Amino acid sequence: MSSLRLWISLGILVLLLTACSTQYPETCPSSTPVGLTNANEIASDDSLLFRFPLDESPIDDNLYFGWFGVSNECTPDIVECYEFPERKFHAAEDYKRPAGTPVYAMADGIISYSGRAGGYGWLILIDHPQANLYSLYGHLSPSRWKLKAGTDVERGDLIAYLGDADENGGSKEQPLVPHLHFGIRAGQIADYPSRGEWRYMGGWIKLCPQNVGWLQPSVIITSQEIPAGGYPQPKVGFLTRLGFDLFIASLYTVGGAVFIVANRKKTRFLLLIPGLVAVVAGIIFNHRGVTRSNILPVIGILILAVGIYYSIQRPTPKPQNRS
Ligand SMILES: [Zn+2]
Repeated sequence: MSSLRLWISLGILVLLLTACSTQYPETCPSSTPVGLTNANEIASDDSLLFRFPLDESPIDDNLYFGWFGVSNECTPDIVECYEFPERKFHAAEDYKRPAGTPVYAMADGIISYSGRAGGYGWLILIDHPQANLYSLYGHLSPSRWKLKAGTDVERGDLIAYLGDADENGGSKEQPLVPHLHFGIRAGQIADYPSRGEWRYMGGWIKLCPQNVGWLQPSVIITSQEIPAGGYPQPKVGFLTRLGFDLFIASLYTVGGAVFIVANRKKTRFLLLIPGLVAVVAGIIFNHRGVTRSNILPVIGILILAVGIYYSIQRPTPKPQNRS
């Protein structure tokens, strides 16, 4: 009996460990920005669809924390290391410029968000329905002039200025080097949830940015192209809208609780439930391209096998005491 408890405890431990370690990819493809040597030329040509959001080109000296798709870990790919407690990928390109630098709309559109937002200081999002894109401008100045949400903009309209180091998401104690965090994504902000790794204002995310609709900004701008029907956006699943992390955490909690109850009450057929949970979670993880998720269905099948074994086993008759 005690060895069974040991196995069950080990099972729960393994489930919890896989929950922590297998949810997100370890690496993503990352790319340096395409050199926009003719940014001013592009900006002044009104026949073009897109322009760079700053007056100058993003030459190498002006790159900051992250290229598109890099992780926050210190690797030779990153201009400056920027460490978070957990691995995340950069869904944009960063351009270092002085505070007060004007920032312009990259294309015609409507401002769908303009407000304070966490580590961004002031954030502006612009929907570009003609291309099925939206653009993201982070670390703007809350104290300087800026456009309000709902404003129609044309390509090249001034929308805001870069913020000072203590108002752009940084503080007096922890100033943040003034820079523009510039993102472009397929779809409109209404297509995405407001929370989680798919959130419409995502900057550093745990999923590969290119897998959730983020595009490399300098590539889109230099291409000056809109595919027929606009840029195709990834399908945002029901689980994502619900809050994928929350859902998976609930699955594990329920699975763990059933494990304990099944063991306590000696109703081990209940093990079928956590077994199924592990199999389903494994299939979902696999479907989402999560590394090392193959182990989950295997664990699930093992638990199922134990559950089935106990379900079909007849109760052992108690030995009769003969006096
Ligand atoms: Zn950034």
